[in-house]
Amino acid sequence: MKTPFVTKEQLQEITKTYPTPFHLYDERGIRANAAALKAAFAWNKGFREYFAVKATPNPYLMKLLHEYDCGCDCSSMTELMLSEACGITGEYIMFSSNDTPPEEFAEADRLGGIINLDDITHIEAVEQALGHIPETISCRFNPGGVFQMSNGIMDNPGDSKYGMTEKQLFDAFRTLKAKGAKRFGIHAFLASNTVTNEYYPKLAGILFELAVRLQQETGAKIAFINLSGGIGVPYRPEEQPNDIAVIGEGVRQQYEAILTPAGMDDVAIFTELGRYMMAPYGCLVTTAIHEKHTHKEYVGVDACAVNLMRPAMYGAYHHITVMGKENEPCDHMVDVVGSLCENNDKFAIDRMLPKIDKGDILVIHDTGAHGFSMGYNYNGKLKSAELLLCEDGSVRLIRRAETPADYFATFDCFEEFKHLSE
Ligand SMILES: *Cc1c(COP(=O)(O)O)cnc(C)c1O
Repeated sequence: MKTPFVTKEQLQEITKTYPTPFHLYDERGIRANAAALKAAFAWNKGFREYFAVKATPNPYLMKLLHEYDCGCDCSSMTELMLSEACGITGEYIMFSSNDTPPEEFAEADRLGGIINLDDITHIEAVEQALGHIPETISCRFNPGGVFQMSNGIMDNPGDSKYGMTEKQLFDAFRTLKAKGAKRFGIHAFLASNTVTNEYYPKLAGILFELAVRLQQETGAKIAFINLSGGIGVPYRPEEQPNDIAVIGEGVRQQYEAILTPAGMDDVAIFTELGRYMMAPYGCLVTTAIHEKHTHKEYVGVDACAVNLMRPAMYGAYHHITVMGKENEPCDHMVDVVGSLCENNDKFAIDRMLPKIDKGDILVIHDTGAHGFSMGYNYNGKLKSAELLLCEDGSVRLIRRAETPADYFATFDCFEEFKHLSE
């Protein structure tokens, strides 16, 4: 069973001030998880997590993670700006982008961030944008093929647009070295949302062996290996959560088996986790506002895919708790829907839930990453507020809800529409 990190009584109190829908984050859970990640990799001197900003681009949460020495993994101009605004700069920025505009390379460099090249042609692009090649530089690897784990979970790097082939990686290192680069990193993201302790150790084994060959054959000094994102969370109640201590230990064993004997025991391990850092510690809180009985049974809520796109986009499962009815039988099969004029605007399809009445508060679980941030404005829907449930039980508004003025703000250069955003 999945239990929300907030009670019905707390939500009834919160909704007196902040109307649904909103995203709520759990400070206590975020802190405990960040501390556990840090402890799991404490064996590695240079270890650093670069939080994938795209997962939850909120400065309050980024700063909270920075207390645990987390940096920021950025992939766009505004993510770089956000990171700078949080005071997170220099080598606390990893710029892991793709199809990158030149001005973004330049901005990442201005902030002192580490640039992670997605493609061999980006060497020239960076040189043009910066006028030089940075001394510290990283390259993204894509081995192609399929990536399979013993439990059958696999992903398909051969189909993904990211990274360089092995040959390109060797060529890139030689070229970068000739152009003055001195400290090198390698990066790969080969499987997403892995709910198994096996993924990172397996990926680490591949990258560590590659790093040894790269350093030996090109003479480039490998300073860090970036295992990127991909550690998943149990969206479904029957799934077992990953154990970060077991994962850290699995990576350590690979490190000692491969890097240490090669004399590379000064290599730092980096991660770029997004989902794992935040998903379970956020939820979307929404109220049931309609019911409809036609060819199927529908419950309409005041949130929609604009607030959480993953079900519509990937058919992703998000668990739902009807607050106050946790112990009632799940004997009603319903579609839980939003109000968009899109038939994929459904948070759940054929889900067995307790009888839902108008006014019931629903908690949609695990929306702390790739939730609010994927939002959009289709149908002219406005984005919700984000709230932080603090450790002392108080609630802090960490992003206000959009107003119509925000939606109309891009018309502010047209005299005849000015009144819309006032
Ligand atoms: C999205 C992304 C991440 C984070 O992925 P999660 O699945 O949220 O852990 C890390 N690195 C890069 C380059 C990404 O694009």
